[in-house]
Amino acid sequence: QSTTAPRRVAVFGATGSIGASALDVIARHPDRYRATVLAAGTQVQALVALCALHRPAHAVIASEALYADLRDGLRAAGLDTQAHAGAAALDQLAASDACDTLVAAIVGAAGLSSTLAAAGAGKRILLANKESLVLAGELLMQRATAAGAEIIPIDSEHSAIFQCLRSRDASLDQAGVRRILLTASGGPFRGRSRAELAEVTPAQAVAHPKWSMGPKISVDSATLMNKGLEVIEAHHLFNIPGERIDVLVHPQSLVHSLVEFVDGSTLAQMGLPDMRTTLAVGLGWPHRIESGVGGLDLLSQGRLDFEAPDTDAFPCLGLAWQAMAAGGTAPAVLNAANEVAVSAFLQGRIAFLAIPGLVANALSTLPSASADTLEGLLAADQHARQITQAAIDHA
Ligand code: NAD
Ligand code: MG
Repeated sequence: QSTTAPRRVAVFGATGSIGASALDVIARHPDRYRATVLAAGTQVQALVALCALHRPAHAVIASEALYADLRDGLRAAGLDTQAHAGAAALDQLAASDACDTLVAAIVGAAGLSSTLAAAGAGKRILLANKESLVLAGELLMQRATAAGAEIIPIDSEHSAIFQCLRSRDASLDQAGVRRILLTASGGPFRGRSRAELAEVTPAQAVAHPKWSMGPKISVDSATLMNKGLEVIEAHHLFNIPGERIDVLVHPQSLVHSLVEFVDGSTLAQMGLPDMRTTLAVGLGWPHRIESGVGGLDLLSQGRLDFEAPDTDAFPCLGLAWQAMAAGGTAPAVLNAANEVAVSAFLQGRIAFLAIPGLVANALSTLPSASADTLEGLLAADQHARQITQAAIDHA
C-alpha cells in the first residue's frame, strides 16, 4: 500500500472523544492516512494544539465568532493551516477535494449537514454521528447510494454487525440474516429501579463503567436512549425492519453485537471496549490495520453475561421503538427533544427522570408527519426543540 498516496481524512469533531481516537489511529499510519481537515465546535485552543500535532491543510471552527481566534492561534503557532469558520465551511470542506474520507464525529443534529454534504460528494464516511441517521436516515442513505458514498459505522455495535456481515452490498435476505442482536452495557445505573434513579447526578451519569465517551452520549447510555438511537441507526444502516432487531444487556461490553442467520448460526464480534478498533475498521476496510488496541484475555475475563433490558426503569428505549414504528418525523422529534433534555440535565436544570418525560411530551405534542424532505425534518427538529425548551423553562 505504500505505493499509493495517503488517504486524506477530514476529522469533524476532532476535539472530542471519537476525534481523539481517530487521530490516534491515523497517526500510527503516516504512510496510509493524513489528517487534512480538522474541525471543532468552539474549542479553539484544543483545535490549534491538534493542528500543531497533525499539520492539516485546513482547520474549521463551527462558531463564526471564533474565526479570528483560530486564525491568530494558528499563526502564533507558526502553522500554515488555513483557518475557516461556520457551518457552511464545514459542508464545503466535507465535499471538497481536501478529503476523500470524513470521520463524522460531531455530536448531535449539528452533524447532519456536513455528513449529507460528504454523502452527496461520494466520500467514504466513518459515521459516528448517529443522530444524523436518526434524524434523516432515509435521506442520508439515499444520498450516499446515489453518489456512491461508502458509509462505515463508527458505533461499536454497528461496526460489529458490519464485520459479521462482511459484504455491505448484499441485502440482508441475500446474506441469509434472520435478525440482529444489539448489545448494551446497561450503563452506570444498570440494576437500579426507577425510584432509585430519582436523585442521580450528571457526574454519576457520565461515569460510564466500560466506555470513555463525550458527555451527551454518556447520558444517553445512562438513560438507554443511546440504545434506542442505535436501534434506529441499525434500521437505516442495514435496511432491516424493527421486528428483526433485538436488544440484549451485556455488562462486560466485550461482545459488541451479533448477527443470527437463517441456518441457526450466530456470529458475534468481540474486542476490548476501545473505539480505536472501530475506527481502524473504518479506515482500513476491507483491510485490517493496527489500532493500538490489544486483544482479549478471555481467561482473566472469566464470563460473559446477558440479560433483558429493564424498560420500566429506562423508558427511553421504548420511546425510541415507538418513534421508529411511527416513522416520518417522529425519530427527528425524539432526537431533538432528547438533545435539549440531556443538555438541561447536564446543566443541572432538570432531574434524570425528567429526560424521558420531556421526550414523551414532545412525541405526543407533535404527531408524526410524513417526512420526505430535509426541510420537513429540520422543521420538526426545531419545533421539538422549542416545545422541550419551553417545558423546561416553565417547569
Ligand atoms: P464529544 O462531546 O467528546 O465531542 C463532540 C465533538 O463535536 C467536539 O469536537 C465538538 O467540538 C464538536 N462539536 C460540537 N458541536 C458542534 C457543532 N455545532 N459544529 C461542529 N462541531 C461541533 O462527543 P463524542 O463522544 O466524541 O461523540 C461524537 C459522536 O459520536 C456522537 O454522535 C456520539 O453519539 C457518537 N459516538 C461516540 C462514541 C464514543 O465512544 N465516544 C461511540 C459511538 C458513537
Ligand atoms: Mg454504541
